[in-house]
Amino acid sequence: MTKINNNLININKENSFKEVTRRVNEYKNNNKNSSVISLGVGDVSKPINEKVASYMHDAVNELSKKETFKGYGYYFGHDFLKEDILENEYKEYGFSLNEIYISNGTKSDITNILELFDINSKILITDPMYPVYESGALSLNRKVQKLNLKEENNFIAIPPQEKYDLIYICSPNNPLGIAYNYEQLNDWVEYALKNDSVILFDNVYHSFIRNNDIPKSIYEIKNAKKVAIEFRSFSKRASFTGVRCSYYVIPNEITLGINDIWQERTINRFNGAGYVAQKGASATYNENVVVEINKNIEYYLKNAKMLKEAFIKLDFKVWGGEDSPFLWVKTKNKLTSWQMFSLFLEQMEIVIIPGIIFGLKGDNCFRVSALGERKNIIEAIKRMENYYEKRT
Ligand code: PLP
Repeated sequence: MTKINNNLININKENSFKEVTRRVNEYKNNNKNSSVISLGVGDVSKPINEKVASYMHDAVNELSKKETFKGYGYYFGHDFLKEDILENEYKEYGFSLNEIYISNGTKSDITNILELFDINSKILITDPMYPVYESGALSLNRKVQKLNLKEENNFIAIPPQEKYDLIYICSPNNPLGIAYNYEQLNDWVEYALKNDSVILFDNVYHSFIRNNDIPKSIYEIKNAKKVAIEFRSFSKRASFTGVRCSYYVIPNEITLGINDIWQERTINRFNGAGYVAQKGASATYNENVVVEINKNIEYYLKNAKMLKEAFIKLDFKVWGGEDSPFLWVKTKNKLTSWQMFSLFLEQMEIVIIPGIIFGLKGDNCFRVSALGERKNIIEAIKRMENYYEKRT
């Protein structure tokens, strides 16, 4: 039989979201009367804004009429959406339409982008990290090296001495919930300028940033246009986790002809994001919709604040949860992250995500998501208080 890509076979299956689901389902099957609350999922709980949905209905109708039908040919996205993105998010940086790409999700974009660079590029990821950086690179036969993040640096990555060609940085970070400030991000831009590297900046949670010390985009940092590709998504901001629409910026300044090369590649590998999704994405910039969407983000941030306060009250060490919907929490009594997962599931019927899923260095922590419904957050806090207050 033809050999299968060995890298896919070797992807870590024991420490995965699939394993979390398997263990949760097993618990539910063995405990028929259980009422498990998930603080695990990274999916949103708010539905798509009605106005955005109505634009998508209109788009479907356009597709059903000869005069307004749209088909192939929009490989890099429709100009109407690129113009919205430029106007609303990138105006001050002077980008042109040919530096913006519309796609169907950052999950694929952050791996696909590796095709732009030499197969032997030295890739740096952090540990812990969003697992797709590693599994995606492996699936394309690229090797990654890891920079261990340290609790004493609040899990912020500090540029190493050694030279790397490509560096994945995620801010606001999933799973850590932390975000890089101006100085910390400036250090990485300086590193990339000095080493001729490119930063792959995963910025899908940018709309959760409230703190003025945190840059919303890497392009707020001087000279970042020479060294950084930025990725954003409509998934969390506009509840498009099911619709699928994302975008990224490849600045012309990175190197001569970079966008010509990438456009050629894209024409050969991608037929463009869906028209209906792009029409919906465009509607998210409508003034009234922006107000509504911001209310949703505030709702998640309030969930995060409530969770953070509860964990602190119960004497947990916690990071994140301020400019991000995620909290990174240290396990107690030196439990491993799977042991902590079992304790939460069996004693409180709460699902948390074991830190080891995000890398070996995450094994003394766990991730909590604030993207759920308020009533579940309140109930989860009550259960945690009941469990821990009895034990102090
Ligand atoms: N990058 C990070 C850090 C994420 O947490 C996620 C989704 O959870 C993604 C990328 C993927 O986003 P999308 O829904 O646009 O594929």
